[in-house]
Amino acid sequence: MIDPHGGRLVSRLASGEKAAALEAEARELPVIQLNPFEVSDLEMLAIGAFSPLEGFMGSADYARVISDKRLANGLPWTLPVTLAVDNDTADSLKKVSRAALADPSGRLLAVLEVQDVFHYDREAESVAVFRTANDDHPGARYVASRGDWIVGGPVEVFRRPNSEAHSKYRLDPADTRRIFAERGWNTVVGFQTRNPVHRAHEYIQKAALEIVDGLLLHPIGGETKSDDISLDVRLRCYEVLLENYYPRDRALLALNPASMRYAGPREAIFHALIRKNFGCTHFIVGRDHAGVGNYYGPYDAQKIFTEFGKDELGIAPLFFEHTFYCRECLGMASQKTCGHDKQSRVMLSGTQVRNVLREGGQLPPEFTRPEVAAVLHQAFGQQQIQQGAAC
Ligand SMILES: [Zn+2]
Repeated sequence: MIDPHGGRLVSRLASGEKAAALEAEARELPVIQLNPFEVSDLEMLAIGAFSPLEGFMGSADYARVISDKRLANGLPWTLPVTLAVDNDTADSLKKVSRAALADPSGRLLAVLEVQDVFHYDREAESVAVFRTANDDHPGARYVASRGDWIVGGPVEVFRRPNSEAHSKYRLDPADTRRIFAERGWNTVVGFQTRNPVHRAHEYIQKAALEIVDGLLLHPIGGETKSDDISLDVRLRCYEVLLENYYPRDRALLALNPASMRYAGPREAIFHALIRKNFGCTHFIVGRDHAGVGNYYGPYDAQKIFTEFGKDELGIAPLFFEHTFYCRECLGMASQKTCGHDKQSRVMLSGTQVRNVLREGGQLPPEFTRPEVAAVLHQAFGQQQIQQGAAC
């Protein structure tokens, strides 16, 4: 089994008496209320998906991640994992050594050991991470909305956030590692997605499955852009796809509780390191991975892997082109494998797919499996009815 990043799988989730003691302590501490994005980061920290991180970043890790794509100890790490607070909260935290963390409804989740409270430059962070501080970028917009101070330190989580919803698919790194071992998978490819899987991505996953033992289909379970398709609908799409088109014993569907940053190349490395913690040996990186708008070049998310030694990352990226159904080849292909012209290729953009669904049209079977299309048609039909009722 592949080692977690940094060599040891972190767990910051307390149970039993320890959890009860932490909760009692939390009731007496100053409370920091987390937004949904920070709650998902807390969950990733709790289950070891962010190994070797044991908490929200302090100034040394933060500064080196921004400038150098590494933690203070030199390990590759490309995105900040931070807890931001406003001026008043920062002032009060400078006087205490521990604080409670609560979800947006005020429910207590964890205790934070306050090791560091520091001021940071939000615009510089956005330019380094997203290559822009423009409000049109969802990641930059989020950073701009945050407080002026960062509080860092290890966390101990006594109540699991989001544990009720989709619990069947909430597999922690320790769970996926155990399942891979039970199934005898020595090599496992991870697939990141925030969208329904259409035939182009099915083809890429299956091309990878030709050379590895198993597939971890690992959709984002945390926050995504508001115009991305909802998690409930996406999960139904994955279920019907796996049921009808994949060998039962070679694919595993689980949620990645992370939130999307839309940081393109930096997020491609981040996604790969997370999947390494879940036990994957390989990771699929497509064109414009984790991209949004035109902020990154189409191959930047693949090129960034050359900035790190293969052993440093410890997980092998598999790079793919955009793929499509070719009416001349009578099968799925990419520009690497098909020489026919564009008219022969069935390709739809995300916007085109949404427009077809909105207008009640049919997605072609060369583009989307009919079972998946049926789930999407139904979901979009309901959405239209709800929007109609709201008007
Ligand atoms: Zn062709």
